Amino acid sequence: MSPRQPEPMPSLPRPRKRLGQHFLIDPNITRKILKAAALSPEDVVFEIGPGRGALTQVLCERVSKVIAVELDRHLFDYLSQICAQHDHLELLHGDALDFPYDTLPVGTVVISNLPYYMATPLLFRLLQERDRIDRMVLMLQREVAERMIAEPGSRDYGLLSVVTQYQTKPRKAFVVPASCFRPVPQVDSAVVCLTGRTARNPTDARFDDVFMKVVRGAFAHRRKTLINSCREERWEEPVIRRALERTRIDPRRRAETLTVREFISLAHAVRTSEN
Ligand code: SAM
Repeated sequence: MSPRQPEPMPSLPRPRKRLGQHFLIDPNITRKILKAAALSPEDVVFEIGPGRGALTQVLCERVSKVIAVELDRHLFDYLSQICAQHDHLELLHGDALDFPYDTLPVGTVVISNLPYYMATPLLFRLLQERDRIDRMVLMLQREVAERMIAEPGSRDYGLLSVVTQYQTKPRKAFVVPASCFRPVPQVDSAVVCLTGRTARNPTDARFDDVFMKVVRGAFAHRRKTLINSCREERWEEPVIRRALERTRIDPRRRAETLTVREFISLAHAVRTSEN
C-alpha cells in the first residue's frame, strides 16, 4: 500500500485590482499591526477582507474568535481550505457593507487592511457601529489616514476628520511603504488606531443624526461660509442663524475652521432651534 499523499495546496487566485487587492507580504507589518491591537486571548476580532489570510492566520492563533468577511468568491474558497484547521474562524462570503453589525458581540476589535476603493464608506459604516466596537486597527491609504487625524484649519481637515474624531480618538500608528504589498499599489499606506467611545460611553443616536446633518451641511460647499453652505443645502435659514447666534459662532466662518467641540455645540443648538 502506498503512503497517503498530503492534500495538494489550493492554487492561489489571481489578484483582482478592482476589489482593492493588494496583499500584505511583510510579516514585520503583520507583527506591528498585532502589537498595535494589543490583543488578549479572549478578544473577538472582526476582519474585513481577509484576502489570502496574511492577518487572519496569525489572528486565529491569538484570539478566541475571528469573524472575517471576504467579497471575492475565489479568495473565500481558497481561505476556507487553507484555514480549515481553525475552528474558531467564522469565514463569511459577502460585502462587509451589508454585514449585520448588530450580531457582533459588544467589545469586538476590528482589524483590517481595508480595500482602497471602499476604505471611506467602510470606515463610515464602522464608525456608525462604534458602540459595539471596542477599538479598530485599520490600514488604509496614507492620505485617508492623514485626513482622519487632521486638525481644524489644515488642508486635510474635513468631513472625515470631524466624523472620525467625534466618534473615536484616532492615532496614526505607522506608515507602510507600498513595497510591503503585492501587487505593489501606487501609494503608501498607514495604520490608524481608533479607540474611545465604546458601549461604556453610549451616545444619543438621535443626536448623532443631527450632528451628521450639521457637519454634512457645513462641508457641502467647502469654499463658502457656514451660513451659505447650509443655505445651499436647503436648510431653513432661521434655524441655522439662531443656532449660530446661540453658540456665538461667526456665520462668516468656513466649516474647515470649526473644531469638533464647536460642531457638537452647533448640533445641540440646531436641535433646540428646530424644536
Ligand atoms: N487582508 C489581506 C491582506 O492584508 O493581505 C487582504 C487585504 S486587500 C487590501 C483587501 C481585501 O478586501 C481583498 O481581499 C478584497 O477582495 C476584499 N474586499 C474588497 N471589497 C470588499 C468588501 N466590500 N467586503 C469585504 N471584502 C472586500
